Amino acid sequence: MPKPKNKQSPGRHIDTRLVHGTERESWPDGATLPPVVYSSAFAYETAGEMEEVFSGRREGMVYSRLANPTVGDLEKRVTQACGARGAVAMSSGAAAIAMSLLALAKSGDELIASRLLFGGTYTLFTKTLADLGVKVHLVDPSDPAAAESLVGPATRAVFLEAIANPSMSVPDIHAWRKFCDSHGLALVLDATLLTPYLFNPEQVPADVAVFSASKYLAGAASVIGGLVLDTGRMDWVGNRRLSFAELRPEGEKAYLARLRKRLLFDCGASLSPMNAFLMMVGMESLGLRLERQCATSLEIARFLESRPQVRQVNYPGLPGSPSYELCRAQYALPGSLLSFRLADKAACFRFLDALELVQRVTNLGDTRTLALHPASTIYASFWKHEQEEAGVTEDLIRLSVGIEHSGDIISDLEQALNAI
Ligand SMILES: *Cc1c(COP(=O)(O)O)cnc(C)c1O
Repeated sequence: MPKPKNKQSPGRHIDTRLVHGTERESWPDGATLPPVVYSSAFAYETAGEMEEVFSGRREGMVYSRLANPTVGDLEKRVTQACGARGAVAMSSGAAAIAMSLLALAKSGDELIASRLLFGGTYTLFTKTLADLGVKVHLVDPSDPAAAESLVGPATRAVFLEAIANPSMSVPDIHAWRKFCDSHGLALVLDATLLTPYLFNPEQVPADVAVFSASKYLAGAASVIGGLVLDTGRMDWVGNRRLSFAELRPEGEKAYLARLRKRLLFDCGASLSPMNAFLMMVGMESLGLRLERQCATSLEIARFLESRPQVRQVNYPGLPGSPSYELCRAQYALPGSLLSFRLADKAACFRFLDALELVQRVTNLGDTRTLALHPASTIYASFWKHEQEEAGVTEDLIRLSVGIEHSGDIISDLEQALNAI
């Protein structure tokens, strides 16, 4: 059988790279999709071969907690889509965030993070990492200069969300890059709202990007997963502030090696091969979906702005948004999540209850349009001042825009606004 040419050449557009996989020469019978390898462990002919693989002298699969061929195909596809150094898949976005930082900080170390955070990340920082002895300083992401005084000898990294959820504000990544470079800190970015489609490490110079792959990758919100991506910017073993000396033999792959050989080995937050497969299938249409979702989001943001019941619309793609210029400069598209303020909590509940097409769901990046009231759901366990710190007010609705026809979504929003 003639071998199909590998279409993954880096000169091609990302739309093409997402459709054509990396390793298909090795897929059986000319399959156009990767096989789903359901095997926990992998056999060897000789004890000597096994020793070589375990010692790292030879590449090979050992046990699916550490690596699996299908999960590896997803990691390669995301790596090549972003033009990065490598990726390690995790069982969820939350696991990806926790592991990305546990690879950098140990007890006694400190991190600097934006105070505008996804709910799970906020409690990871203020509770779980705090309990483990890692101090996270929460700062205003629009003011890197104010964080200068927080950098000490134990500081390891800065953590930001590419587009903060649900405040929808965009940090100046280049300003934070300068901040990190001047102190030798790693810059870790939660790029979930960008997805690997809109995250381009050349324009957005983070050292590490994390994605909740539960959101846009598979498409129809079918599976939970996460990814940690090493963009290839950081010289891990050469950086004196970060402790990668013991991983010198791993060379430029030191960070990826710590994620896989230490954190997947010890904590086991591994992705299932079926989830990886569904994400690869979904990624083929990621660009199409996002283009539609972003265009519809702008239409909806404009519609909401024009309604008397709506007091404020937060969408970085909206001219007039405080994040509009930064968003345009950094990202190809402004994403498909927006938030807006009504009169009060009661108005939000009446609006949500009146929705007929749009579903009341705590998720984003689905093919369906979803709405929720963040203050009484994701942020319900937060103190008032913590909600305010994360940009969550009682009068805020969050809307994740799907791929339905924009006219249908807007009609539903309109009738629900009129029902308030
Ligand atoms: C959903 C989400 C996460 C957590 O991801 P899970 O896959 O649900 O664990 C982290 N960050 C952001 C921005 C998210 O939207």
